[in-house]
Amino acid sequence: MTSGQLIDRFGRQHDYLRISLTDRCNLRCVYCMPAEGMEFQPHEQILRFEEIVEVVEVAASLGVRRLRLTGGEPLVRRDVEKLVAVLSAIPGIEDIALTTNGIYLAQKAEALKQAGVTRVNISLDTMKPDRFAMITRGGDLDRVLEALEASFAVGFSPIKLNVVLMKGMNDDEIDDFLRLSLERPIHVRFIEYMPIGHDDDGWREKYLPLSAVIDRAKALGLTPEKTEKVKGNGPSEDFRLPGARGSIGLIHPVSDHFCGNCNRLRLTADGHLKPCLYWIDELNVRPHIGDKEALRQLFYRALAIKPENHEMAQALERQAQSHTPTLRRMSQIGG
Ligand code: SAM
Ligand code: SF4
Repeated sequence: MTSGQLIDRFGRQHDYLRISLTDRCNLRCVYCMPAEGMEFQPHEQILRFEEIVEVVEVAASLGVRRLRLTGGEPLVRRDVEKLVAVLSAIPGIEDIALTTNGIYLAQKAEALKQAGVTRVNISLDTMKPDRFAMITRGGDLDRVLEALEASFAVGFSPIKLNVVLMKGMNDDEIDDFLRLSLERPIHVRFIEYMPIGHDDDGWREKYLPLSAVIDRAKALGLTPEKTEKVKGNGPSEDFRLPGARGSIGLIHPVSDHFCGNCNRLRLTADGHLKPCLYWIDELNVRPHIGDKEALRQLFYRALAIKPENHEMAQALERQAQSHTPTLRRMSQIGG
């Protein structure tokens, strides 16, 4: 490992930190949380804003340049814009993005933009109101559509939609999302359904490889052209349909992992540094708050235990894995 930089034993440089601000959410998406019985961390377990700032100061001193605020739903946390303003003033931090379900975004977009959020990913798996209510267990689609318009109005750029593709649930809307990328300057990211925090086999039945998206585009007579990467830190493969104002991205962690280029670390809402989305290993920052050198060493230790690959595909094949997958749910990690 190179001193002063976050380079792991596989030569991967880490300049991106995803921060989960809370494990709570105002929705209950079927692929992310159970309908009932979800246990949330008590408030005193959740990192305070000052603690997050301290961790980010250390991360920035080690070369982290870009942040993403996520959750749970980051906008259920009060005064997120105040945190953003402090984070964006940390020397070295160049870019702050937000992943949100959009429910509170219309009312907060202006303040977040002023504070320093440059771009947003809004999760939207369907454009049918009843289906949206079903997938999110009660969400109001109109609020997300308002969030999308507010994002254009305040000038977030790029604006990305996260669409988790599920067999028999929303795969009949691939064409509609492809058309949306034709008509508007939106980056539509199709995401494979991941086996995160799932102890049953339900996800396997709904899992759909993203080759389905390319097949649909071709069926519409639109051959996707590979494009330069749309601004961001993500592992998506990006395409543009002929004549489109927007673009599409495919995120296929299961069918074709992209671990070789992984540039990210994660900080959970309860203060654990997670080197890999899928593996159980994580390190608690809490005991080291107030000691920047100890926090720096913790970042190095996180890199030292980062696996080469996550092996999600083996879960699909029901094969043995070399490591224990995470017990946390996606809402507890932040995606
Ligand atoms: N609440 C915010 C939202 O929904 O955008 C941020 C947190 S959410 C956990 C982050 C992303 O993870 C969302 O785009 C969501 O669709 C995605 N996600 C959650 N569970 C997933 C799963 N099992 N497979 C694939 N993506 C998932
Ligand atoms: Fe909440 Fe986001 Fe998980 Fe949906 S995907 S339940 S909006 S955290």
